[in-house]
Amino acid sequence: MQTPSVQRVCVLGSTGSIGVSTLDVLARHPQQYSVFALTARERVAELAQQCRQFTPRYAVVLDEGRAEKLRGLLAEAELPTEVLSGVEGLCQVAADSQVDVVMAAIVGAAGLRPTLAAVEAGKKVLLANKESLVMAGPVFMSALAESDAQLLPIDSEHNAIFQCLPFPCEDLNAAGVERILLTGSGGPFRSRPVSELGAVTPDEACAHPNWSMGRKISVDSATMMNKGLEFIEACYLFHAQPAEIQVVVHPQSIIHSMVQYRDGSLLAQMGNPDMRTPIAHALAFPERIDSGVPALDLIAQGRLDFEAPDEARFPCLRLAREAVEAGGSAPTCLNAANEIAVEAFLRGELAFTEIPTIIDEVMKSTEVVELTGLEAVELADRNARDLAQQVLARIQAGSPQ
Ligand code: NAD
Ligand code: MG
Repeated sequence: MQTPSVQRVCVLGSTGSIGVSTLDVLARHPQQYSVFALTARERVAELAQQCRQFTPRYAVVLDEGRAEKLRGLLAEAELPTEVLSGVEGLCQVAADSQVDVVMAAIVGAAGLRPTLAAVEAGKKVLLANKESLVMAGPVFMSALAESDAQLLPIDSEHNAIFQCLPFPCEDLNAAGVERILLTGSGGPFRSRPVSELGAVTPDEACAHPNWSMGRKISVDSATMMNKGLEFIEACYLFHAQPAEIQVVVHPQSIIHSMVQYRDGSLLAQMGNPDMRTPIAHALAFPERIDSGVPALDLIAQGRLDFEAPDEARFPCLRLAREAVEAGGSAPTCLNAANEIAVEAFLRGELAFTEIPTIIDEVMKSTEVVELTGLEAVELADRNARDLAQQVLARIQAGSPQ
């Protein structure tokens, strides 16, 4: 048997929750993977520590001031790692000819350019950064079709769906698929009285019952916008119509999603809620490697529950479905407005229940346009952010907090 060559990995967003889990998996397989580049926005000391552990060829931070600081830390440690900065630095390492695999784990729209750079350079791209696909769906998917890149979903639900589908699967109908069942835990406020939701704090919203994640996605899980973004993500990834996807609330997060076939079969992928499983799956696909996640003990687990989502409690789910049905720039607009609203909520400047209010207003006052290319995506994103800031300012002026 041929000795497999070492795969060189670029981890975009290495200091985040997904980034750290990715490095945990990579560290278990030093013969198979080496770290080529690590990137972060601001946690320079942590990035320097990761550089000490993995000695990447490059480390990238967003601004030049922090890059200088990192250069100092790396020089002290006598490391050869070269430090780059800016979006250009991110795109450069994502597309470097020496890179085999790119983990796209930057949070939010900021991940779009580097993720697209990896796609255009024909990399194996592990997609955690769902916002980049949601905001740029048609542009992203055509870049993928025109390149030699392979896109593997990291989002646990999409990774589960991928595992339950035949491979490759270009056409759900031809594969005998009737429906995709997208599961979600319902987040920390699934059964909190609706009347109390206006007063919940960022820390309460970030205390997810099953998953430990970054703060933005944690708030998205609490509003169920995360499931909304995932709904849109699934439409693009699996060439699915919105009517072919059903959201099912499953509070234990043991089943990560399911695929229902024409013959009555329902395939589910299960496991402990730990992102190292989808990360290891996508990294090694089609092989299987150890992820460090303990086997699921179904007897200890005891039961699995399911219920329908409550769209009155979680209007974000409806807003996301409407956005994907409207198509064009509507998901771009939804994502941008959501990012502005969530940031304001995390700063303590907006009530939790006003997150969907902002998104709804921005969606209603924005004309849907066709996404002809990256410029059109970025323009729609900017316009929606400006509008969301205006709505936010109006809400803040009307209701001092
Ligand atoms: P996080 O906030 O923990 O980490 C984000 C990373 O991106 C950090 O390394 C940060 O430095 C970097 N970053 C942030 N803003 C940046 C910018 N403007 N430019 C460059 N880098 C920037 O987030 P996370 O929870 O790891 O999530 C990352 C992505 O993965 C998100 O898109 C999220 O939706 C998705 N995801 C996360 C999980 C999870 O369990 N955490 C599960 C599924 C999908
Ligand atoms: Mg998910």
